[in-house]
Amino acid sequence: MNTVNDLRKQDKKRFDPAEWIRVSLDILGVDGVTVALVDVPKLNTGDTTFYGITEKLPIKDTYRLYLLDTATTAKKKTVICHECIHIKQYHEGRLSIKDKKTLVFDGKEYHPPYDKKQPHEKEAWGGQNKLKRQVDEKIKKL
Ligand SMILES: [Zn+2]
Repeated sequence: MNTVNDLRKQDKKRFDPAEWIRVSLDILGVDGVTVALVDVPKLNTGDTTFYGITEKLPIKDTYRLYLLDTATTAKKKTVICHECIHIKQYHEGRLSIKDKKTLVFDGKEYHPPYDKKQPHEKEAWGGQNKLKRQVDEKIKKL
């Protein structure tokens, strides 16, 4: 059983991101996590637009998923699938943050700047589209 708390305040009639997170985690076989879904804060991030980020909170099995409110629905779906793959990596203990400048994945350390070529990102980028199709199909049947 996973819990997704949607802490944003918006119209969920057409697309419910919390449902997408729940179904994604189900398909990935992740069980027993709590996810707080929030908007990406409106910070000046220079040239970089963050569509989504997942943070493991210092509470057991609890994560905060930031999702950019202004992204299109299609983009949000992709981002949710991408971030849920990272939640699975954290949940299985394969991914962890050692300190502000060190990320550990499968026992190897990585340092900023993080990019798509690093193995934890490769896995998320490589799996997100298949997962998106699976979630779409499953939600249609619900
Ligand atoms: Zn990523």
